[in-house]
Amino acid sequence: MSVDPRFHPVSGFDLPRFAGVPTFMRLPHVPFDHPDFADVEIGLIGAPWDGGTTNRPGPRHGPRQLRDLSTMIRTLHPVTGVNPYAKTNCADLGDVAPNPADVQDSLTRMVAFYEQVAAAGVAPMTAGGDHLVSLPILRALGKDQPLAMIHFDSHTDLYDSYFGGFRYTHGTPFRRAIEEGVLEPSKVVQIGLRGTQYDGEDMAFGESVGVRMIKIEEFFERGVDDVMAEARAIVGDHPTYVSYDIDFVDPAFAPGTGTPEIGGPNSFQAQQVCRHLYGLNLVGADLVEVSPPFDPAGTTAWLGASLMFELLCALADAVARRRDAD
Ligand code: MN
Ligand code: MN
Repeated sequence: MSVDPRFHPVSGFDLPRFAGVPTFMRLPHVPFDHPDFADVEIGLIGAPWDGGTTNRPGPRHGPRQLRDLSTMIRTLHPVTGVNPYAKTNCADLGDVAPNPADVQDSLTRMVAFYEQVAAAGVAPMTAGGDHLVSLPILRALGKDQPLAMIHFDSHTDLYDSYFGGFRYTHGTPFRRAIEEGVLEPSKVVQIGLRGTQYDGEDMAFGESVGVRMIKIEEFFERGVDDVMAEARAIVGDHPTYVSYDIDFVDPAFAPGTGTPEIGGPNSFQAQQVCRHLYGLNLVGADLVEVSPPFDPAGTTAWLGASLMFELLCALADAVARRRDAD
């Protein structure tokens, strides 16, 4: 067990949780050039960018709002008993700096940032940002070996292109990641798919390469435990990334997102799926598509910050197990 006081969140017993400069989970801010960076094991990172958004924009404002609301989160998971900060050295690495006026330049900058994270052996827990931010993360983490992925979303994000051949939007990241060989499609499972479609081209592609796509009807018919047991079997002990689009959750609970789809899981089911991620070989996770301009009461961001903690606990468990096995 690693309990290093340099990487402890500020406690609500010492400073009220509404006070102080907000960082993710009230962790220390440790950028790359900080002397403590070498000892970070999990980096919480903001990706304030929505240059891939095709409909209602705003996730560029997500990280700041998620940081703010994450200050309300305590340290101990109420069900699994995990305290991620007692298992691993966690820190807020700050934000990746994209170029809001240039998609390709943003992708290049984000890849460089995450390559630095990966080279340092740090597991990234990212707050988006729209879903295209997952592509540069996967490029960096999957460079040497294509990753498995558990993907919660209303949408496949497997489309080929938009607007006459433009191939980089938040509807295309996993199509590109599969083509580029950073995702292993036979070890990708997508959960929660629903909503009206353009033409089904995305699902036809997914089927053709062996992606397991679980629609919301099947999710509700089988239930969380059964669906997640299958998801675990698909990724096995392969290095696995978890990508969580907040629009997986019903818009009654998560209205503040760009592409909501009705008929989704409630906020409890949104938590439950994360509690089936323990024991997997997790290498990173993201929580994307929180759009504060469409979230006037902050409910979506609060859900998002809470889900980030769920993911962080499972990731810390995996990072600590790998470290202790060495
Ligand atoms: Mn998505
Ligand atoms: Mn989506």
